[in-house]
Amino acid sequence: MSKFFSAKYAALTPYVPGEQPKDAQYIKLNTNESPFPPPASVAEAAKAEAEKLHLYSDPESALLTEKMAQVLGVERNQVLMTNGSDEALNFAFMAFCDQTHPIVFPDITYGFYSVFAALNGIPYKTVPLKEDFSVDYRDYVGIGQNIVIANPNAPTGMALSVAKIEEIVKSNPQNVVIIDEAYVDFGGESCVSLIKKYDNLLVTQTFSKSRSFAGARLGFSIGNEKLIADLNTVKYSTNPYNVNRMTAAAGYAALCETEWFKNNCAAIQEARTYTAAELKKLGFTVLDSKTNFLFAKSDKISGQKLYKKLKERGVLVRWFNAARIEDFVRITIGRKEQMDVFLCKTAEILEEEK
Ligand SMILES: *Cc1c(COP(=O)(O)O)cnc(C)c1O
Repeated sequence: MSKFFSAKYAALTPYVPGEQPKDAQYIKLNTNESPFPPPASVAEAAKAEAEKLHLYSDPESALLTEKMAQVLGVERNQVLMTNGSDEALNFAFMAFCDQTHPIVFPDITYGFYSVFAALNGIPYKTVPLKEDFSVDYRDYVGIGQNIVIANPNAPTGMALSVAKIEEIVKSNPQNVVIIDEAYVDFGGESCVSLIKKYDNLLVTQTFSKSRSFAGARLGFSIGNEKLIADLNTVKYSTNPYNVNRMTAAAGYAALCETEWFKNNCAAIQEARTYTAAELKKLGFTVLDSKTNFLFAKSDKISGQKLYKKLKERGVLVRWFNAARIEDFVRITIGRKEQMDVFLCKTAEILEEEK
């Protein structure tokens, strides 16, 4: 740390992204990227924009926002496009939380929430997941605080119904409830339709996972027009051109690829069902996932050891050194052939442990 670093950030522990190793070719099942590149039309749209890189992007991302609103069945002023959904989440923390408006979220969830809180000087409280790693919606009913819940949750993969989300939103009318739907396209239920009924619901989604855009950085928020206007105030005070030209054009093209998108999500879900069944045959406990990853543990090997031994064999999964989940590994769903390699190596490792 330099002597110039602001005291307000001195104690900050930044978010740690999953490994992106450059030393070897791994089967990468550790950062929930899609194994499928986007369709050709998306790359072509980005390429066409590359000739205009000397010009600023449209700060409103008007065409993309319009199309996104149409796809979601909401109004254009109820959507804000962002540089990944991490930016949407940070804007929401900045806009709606402060010293006197703390935020509450599950003890086991996306690691960025506590980082955004710390970055912005926002006090936060965590609520333990139940024994079975589900979110008990009753823990959030009428608590009178801002709330952020990933639904489906990460890294557990488990989802809450829209009816339960609605109970949380309805019972906290003086607070903003943020529902992070990063994984919703893989079988969860989206609560986007509730934004017309409740002015305190903000939903975030991303192109990173289900639309194969992790490297393009595109996400969005959906909510009441006043919430979106507040997010815009924060956006225009930090980074007006938050979505770059190539990504905006690629995003628009991606939204036109309805069939591709459906098939992409279906392929991941099929590989997930297969992998979960095979893991169970190997004796793993596998949580019920509605995402593009599985959270699984074996009583024959520790999570850390399995992670290490898989890495030695060229397969990367994610292990979290955190209370309650240190026995688990998180496995991104890749192509079926990749999952077969993962399963084969895992079986080998378990055999060695005997
Ligand atoms: C991946 C992820 C995000 C955001 O990813 P972006 O790439 O910034 O859109 C947000 N929330 C959760 C729970 C995630 O797993």
